[in-house]
Amino acid sequence: MLISKTIAEAQSACAQLRGEGRVVGRTLGLVPTMGALHEGHLSLARAARAACDAVAVSIFVNPTQFGPNEDFSKYPRTFENDCALLEREGVDLIFAPTVEEMYPAWASTFVIVEGVSDRLDGASRPGHFRGVTTVVSKLFHIIAPHKAFFGQKDAAQVAVLRKMVRDLNFPLQFVVCPIVREADGLALSSRNHYLSEKERQQALVLHRALQKVEEAVASGEGSSSKLIEAAGLVLAQEPGVRVDYIAVVDPDTLEDVSDVRGALVAVAAFVGTTRLIDNILL
Ligand code: AMP
Repeated sequence: MLISKTIAEAQSACAQLRGEGRVVGRTLGLVPTMGALHEGHLSLARAARAACDAVAVSIFVNPTQFGPNEDFSKYPRTFENDCALLEREGVDLIFAPTVEEMYPAWASTFVIVEGVSDRLDGASRPGHFRGVTTVVSKLFHIIAPHKAFFGQKDAAQVAVLRKMVRDLNFPLQFVVCPIVREADGLALSSRNHYLSEKERQQALVLHRALQKVEEAVASGEGSSSKLIEAAGLVLAQEPGVRVDYIAVVDPDTLEDVSDVRGALVAVAAFVGTTRLIDNILL
C-alpha cells in the first residue's frame, strides 16, 4: 500500500494502478473520506475492492467545506489507525495531501452546483457543498477513477455530487452504498467521537424518528406533513436534542414532495453541540 502526500506522486501511482499502457486496462475505484475511519468508510472500501481491480482512498479534512464556526480544527484525525485499517482492506493507495498541496495560495477556482447545493445541509451550512464539489472535482481529476464510492448516510451530498458528475460529464460511475449503523441503530459517523455517553444515548432519537416514519408509511400514511409531524414528536422527546431540519424530499432534487413514494426522509439535529444527520429512502 502506497501512502502519498503529493498530487504528482498520486497521479503517477494511479496511472500505474489503472494499468495505463497495458493492452488490457484495470479499473480503479476511489473512496473519498475525511479520515477518522469507521465501519461505514470501510464498507465503501470493501465495495470498491469487490468492484474494481485497484482501490484508492483519499483522507483529507477539507477546509473549504467547513463554515467559520464549524469544527475544522477539532475534527478527529486518526491517521496512523486509518492507514492500518485500510492496509487490512487491501487498499492500494492512500492519498493524504496537506491543505497547501490541495489549495495553493493562488488557487481561486470553485465548482458550484446551483440549486440543490442550497437545500437541506446546504441551507443550514452555507457554502458547505461548494467546498465538497470543489474538492471532489479535484480528487476526480487527480485520481481519475473509473468508479467513485459514496455513502447514502450523506444523502444531500449524494444528490449534489451525482448532479455534478452528470452536469460536468465526469467519466466515471457514481456508486452509492447503504448506511452502516451500530447495533442499536445509530448511524456511524466520525462526529460520534464528540458525543458523551449521555449524548450517545440521546442521539438514538434520530433513528427512532425515522423508524416512526417508516411505521407510519407502512400503515398507510401518505402525507409528507404528517410524516414530518410524527418524526418531530419523537425528536421532541429528547430535550437535549435540537432539530435542524426534518424533510421529505425528492432524493435527486432535494425539493419537497407531496407524494412520499420513493422520497428521501432526512433529519439533522444537534445533540449538545454535535450536529448529526440520518435518513431513510421510502
Ligand atoms: P466523511 O469522512 O464523513 O466525509 O465520509 C466519507 C464517506 O463515507 C462519505 O461518502 C460518507 O457518506 C460515507 N459514510 C460516512 N458514514 C457512513 C455510514 N455510517 N455508512 C455508510 N457510509 C458512510
